[in-house]
Amino acid sequence: MSTLGVALLGATGSIGETAQRVVARHPDRFRLVALTANGNADELAKAAQRWRPAFVGLVEPAGRAVPATWGSGAQCLVDAAQHPDAQIVLNAVVGAAGLDATLAALAAGKRVALANKETLVIGGTLVQRAVRAKGGSVIPVDSEHSALLQCLAGRIGSSGEGLLPVQGVKRFVITASGGPFRTWDTERIRGAKLSDALNHPTWAMGKKITVDSASLANKALEVIEAHVLFGVPYEKIEVVVHPQSIVHSMVEFEDGSVLAQMGVPSMELPVLYALTYPERLADAGVPRFDPLAHSPLTFEAVRHDAFPTLGLGVAAGKAGGAAPAVFNAANEAAVARVLAGSLDFARIPVAIEGALAKLQGVRGDDRTSLLAADAAARAYVQEMR
Ligand code: NDP
Ligand code: MG
Repeated sequence: MSTLGVALLGATGSIGETAQRVVARHPDRFRLVALTANGNADELAKAAQRWRPAFVGLVEPAGRAVPATWGSGAQCLVDAAQHPDAQIVLNAVVGAAGLDATLAALAAGKRVALANKETLVIGGTLVQRAVRAKGGSVIPVDSEHSALLQCLAGRIGSSGEGLLPVQGVKRFVITASGGPFRTWDTERIRGAKLSDALNHPTWAMGKKITVDSASLANKALEVIEAHVLFGVPYEKIEVVVHPQSIVHSMVEFEDGSVLAQMGVPSMELPVLYALTYPERLADAGVPRFDPLAHSPLTFEAVRHDAFPTLGLGVAAGKAGGAAPAVFNAANEAAVARVLAGSLDFARIPVAIEGALAKLQGVRGDDRTSLLAADAAARAYVQEMR
């Protein structure tokens, strides 16, 4: 069997490193043909030395001595995504910066293994159009959506709403760890520090998604992601807190049967599955699950009063148009400020709510208008005191 070429965008990140481990375990199946990073030239150079890919791109080389053969600027993401040697594009870029690469890969008819959930939140309709036009596909890397896809195995149709249309689903139950503030009261969350927000109880991830997990913005992005992927209406998507992060999500079918996908919290399997779907591949790197060691499993309701960001995001998803892009951009800008120390963690929902109110009803029917809404939301949050 010949190997499949994989373009890995965001190779130096948390998912990027996981993807390098997964590919390293299966040299007879996959090879890395393109690698990109944002500014981390040292780690990218190490990866390039190791994999000898046909293409290497560093978005912001400013001031760094990098090989003349490397691509640069945002265009290098598009070039990597459309590289002729790549059959699969694993998009592990963080934030809205990943959108154009996803669209470029789909325009070239490729499979996108998508960790960059922001792509689907901002540009769900654009992605849908690109898939229909050129026959590419999107397979989720996000653990909850990988879980939903695994529960839906054999039931993905070729027509209907969504990128992976399904029939006969009564309800999705998406699980959330609850993050570091799960048991904190609202008053205590108001005084939360950045170091508290970065202290995730079950998952080790990049900083932006770790803060998103603390505010539950991540879960809002995931509800929208599930809607865009599977075409299931928002009314049928529930979120439940599951502190152990063992059940990655559940699907309830029309007859009342509920399937769940379980495993130790690790991205090894979701990354592997997005590369092999619909096949499964024996793999020694996926941690073994022992039900006795992980007992008991518990479930709790979301405390919406303490975590208003989730409701804001789901409402933006339901509103459609530019609202999900505004939600995402306001959140990205707010998290960047929290990470830079110029905004308190507890002000994230305030920033998002303000941006959504200010930009209510702005156009969002094509890439240009969506990016304009994105820029306006960022400007609003950057100017906030
Ligand atoms: P990290 O911050 O660890 O890594 C991000 C990667 O993207 C790095 O390679 C970084 O390069 C690159 N990057 C950052 N900004 C840009 C930009 N503007 N243009 C191009 N490349 C950029 O993030 P994660 O790996 O944690 O997350 C990646 C995506 O996967 C996110 O969308 C996240 O929501 C999603 N995801 C992550 C999970 C996880 O377990 N980590 C789980 C589920 C989803 P550099 O190193 O040079 O800065
Ligand atoms: Mg997730």
